[in-house]
Amino acid sequence: MANGDSPSDPIYSDPVFQMAMQQFEVIADHLQIPEGTRRRLIYPKRAVSVALPIERDNGEVHVFHGYRVQHHLSIGPTKGGTRYSPDLTIGESAALAVWMSWKCALAGLPYGGAKGGIRVDPRSLSRRELEVLSRRYMQEMIPFVGPQMDVMAPDMGTNEQVMAWFMDTYSVHMGCALGEIVTGKPVSLGGVQGRREATGRGVIYLIERALNMLKITPSECTAIVQGFGNVGSVTAAGLAYKSGMKVVGLSDHTVALYDPNGLDVAAADRHVAVHGVLEGFEQGERVDPNEFLTLPCDVLVPAAVERVITEENAGRLKCRILAEAANGPTTPDADKILDQRWDELFVIPDILCNAGGVIVSYFEWVQDLQNFFWSDVEITDRLYRILETAFTAMVKRSKERRIPHRTAAVSLGVERVLAARQARGIFP
Ligand code: GLU
Repeated sequence: MANGDSPSDPIYSDPVFQMAMQQFEVIADHLQIPEGTRRRLIYPKRAVSVALPIERDNGEVHVFHGYRVQHHLSIGPTKGGTRYSPDLTIGESAALAVWMSWKCALAGLPYGGAKGGIRVDPRSLSRRELEVLSRRYMQEMIPFVGPQMDVMAPDMGTNEQVMAWFMDTYSVHMGCALGEIVTGKPVSLGGVQGRREATGRGVIYLIERALNMLKITPSECTAIVQGFGNVGSVTAAGLAYKSGMKVVGLSDHTVALYDPNGLDVAAADRHVAVHGVLEGFEQGERVDPNEFLTLPCDVLVPAAVERVITEENAGRLKCRILAEAANGPTTPDADKILDQRWDELFVIPDILCNAGGVIVSYFEWVQDLQNFFWSDVEITDRLYRILETAFTAMVKRSKERRIPHRTAAVSLGVERVLAARQARGIFP
């Protein structure tokens, strides 16, 4: 660390942020970025930490902790989800914000990256407590967010309803309705049809695109999907019913299920709609969650949390395509192993694979700013066009420079952020 850096800062010592830094160093070496510029590119512009007291239903006062990290504001507002998770840290938020920056730049969106949320298990709260906590979080964030400053969206543990509470809290404060303050809102508040499905739809588009390039027929493939939240469930259903694949593995935080003859995704959806979790779904064999990702399949989709593909299991993955629907599922040490297997294993890196969500968020924001709404067909068509451009650019760079897909994708994003920052210069 150079003079003046602060390695003891809770952001920089966080393991997830360190992973984002390590990943960035590979890219910075590839692009031969000088040391000082590297620091300028990776360190977040702003990091806000707030205490959130609320009165619980039993009358007790409980203080939760909330964060928001804005990575860079060089080309427009920052953009990214709000996560409710019991393990969330400011460092993890910072890493996720950095990845949002590369993701937005790769897709050509005029945003820097942001991420944040509350350190809470949303399932442990009543609906009233969840509303009060969400509103208090947005209230505390008002000085730091805005349609031209930072635009939140759903992420793990949040949904359209939480976005509606954020929008209402901000709008009441400003004295008028400002839908453009968040994306992923209900359609009745200026949200767009299909935003909830957008990330999963993008994942499916890119998997089919990769299979097409490899001359593999989707309907002859098997798939394993880790995670059954918004992204995992939409992806699993799309792979089964649109691409015609046999979905042989499904999991969530309660259970991992495998059946080489295929699982009924629609029945799993119905089970989760009633019970909230996959636990109790009576199909397939219960398998060790640590071995789940290494079971035989053609398409593997990690759609849950960070750091699940590690140096321990990367060499044993049996899939042909690794579609990273989660943010940061693969560690840099695992990447070194995957890089050696790149002729047998096609990686669709996270910043491309799950970009469908933020791309449709961008469409929502643009429409809200103009009060002019597009048709579903227009939205899906524009989504696929952006994904296609980014996919083609990644594959082209990977082939030309003989570098792995992640290096190609992230370097395209980093280069664009660097160009914008260099054009603006350092002030004063
Ligand atoms: N949370 C999503 C992501 O990680 C979407 C962010 C957004 O729409 O702003 O990409």
